[in-house]
Amino acid sequence: MRVIVRYHEIALKGRHRPFFAQKLADNLRKATSDLPGIGVRPMAGRIALTASDGVPWADLRPRIESVFGVANFSRVREVPHDVEAAKQAAIAAARERPVTSFRITTRRSWKLFPWDSIQLDREIGDAVRKATGLPVDLDEPDLTLFVEVLKDRILVSSERLRGPGGVPVGVSGRVLALLSGGIDSPVAAARLMRRGCTVHLVSFHAFPLQDRTMLDKAKALARELTRRQFRTRLFLVPFGPVQQTIVASCPAPLRVVLYRRFMLRIAEQIAARCSAKALVTGESLGQVASQTLDNILTIGEAIRLPVLRPLIGMDKDEITAEAQRLGTFEISTLPDQDCCQLFVPRGPATASALDEVHRAEGALDIPSLVSEALASCEIEHLAFPAVLSHAL
Ligand code: ATP
Ligand code: MG
Repeated sequence: MRVIVRYHEIALKGRHRPFFAQKLADNLRKATSDLPGIGVRPMAGRIALTASDGVPWADLRPRIESVFGVANFSRVREVPHDVEAAKQAAIAAARERPVTSFRITTRRSWKLFPWDSIQLDREIGDAVRKATGLPVDLDEPDLTLFVEVLKDRILVSSERLRGPGGVPVGVSGRVLALLSGGIDSPVAAARLMRRGCTVHLVSFHAFPLQDRTMLDKAKALARELTRRQFRTRLFLVPFGPVQQTIVASCPAPLRVVLYRRFMLRIAEQIAARCSAKALVTGESLGQVASQTLDNILTIGEAIRLPVLRPLIGMDKDEITAEAQRLGTFEISTLPDQDCCQLFVPRGPATASALDEVHRAEGALDIPSLVSEALASCEIEHLAFPAVLSHAL
């Protein structure tokens, strides 16, 4: 089987294009590394992927669909520069499934081919019509046959499947995303992957004060996200001791803000260890009491590293739809015990003043709370495809 993978050439600009295309090819190789007989080769403006005939399309297709940077892709028939051969390929493609009408859409990437696109549309269209008896419908065809003339060959295909878009993971450096068990944070992490970042993950949990559900969800979400970047480090931080200390010595309405400031402080240290240049959260403005502009200011003030909030302007239903496409929604909606709910009063502060927060934190030994949390942090190394983990 032969598949042509296309990327958005405008997305992969100028001098960086060969580097980006190479990275996309590498990522396609990684995404399919456990399937037999895969070959991936960059060509002019696209990438050719071959698989042995034993590989079911149902296995290969989702792998390609998960690779960021893929704009669209098609299984193709490949023939030499011979219009007769192109006609035969088009006829075979038209017979793949029952259809009621068709059209030919030719693109000449190699402009020196002696036939122009309109002539090829007509000539190949006539041959398909005669061979199959199908009518041509230029406006609303049931089947579009794509003919692409390249410098050394002609490609014919009967499909153009959408990829996830974006740019390949690995071209934009590293970030560390704060992953809860909720719907939003996995979507935020994936958004950064889609912009080319390798996204490591940190989850705070209150085990053994709470059960393991939050931990299990974080691991399951991390595994799902790893399909898109192949290697992930997941940092699991026991947060119960920090929470107990805050509860014992700070005013109750400030608890959520203080929890968050400590999460960021701990995450900032972990980011330094894994060379991440920013943190990522799933916050969206006004969604819950803690996500006000005042709190964003007060929480972010605890650290120096930038905090990226890719969902800040999104509605919950948009985020939910994206989580469904991403494959994380089902995991996120499993019941859990979220550590942020632990010891949280009914009316958390929505407009926490910085001086109040500083006063409350004056009662705490911040460096030792942070370093104790770091000392008890566990790290999981995740890989996709899973067999790769032996080679880590
Ligand atoms: P989510 O659906 O991502 O849980 P949320 O709507 O529940 O978000 P909050 O609880 O205010 O919102 O959390 C805001 C962000 O803080 C989360 O998106 C996540 O990035 C981070 N966060 C919250 N709790 C944790 C946690 N236990 N571990 C790691 N990060 C967390
Ligand atoms: Mg949450």
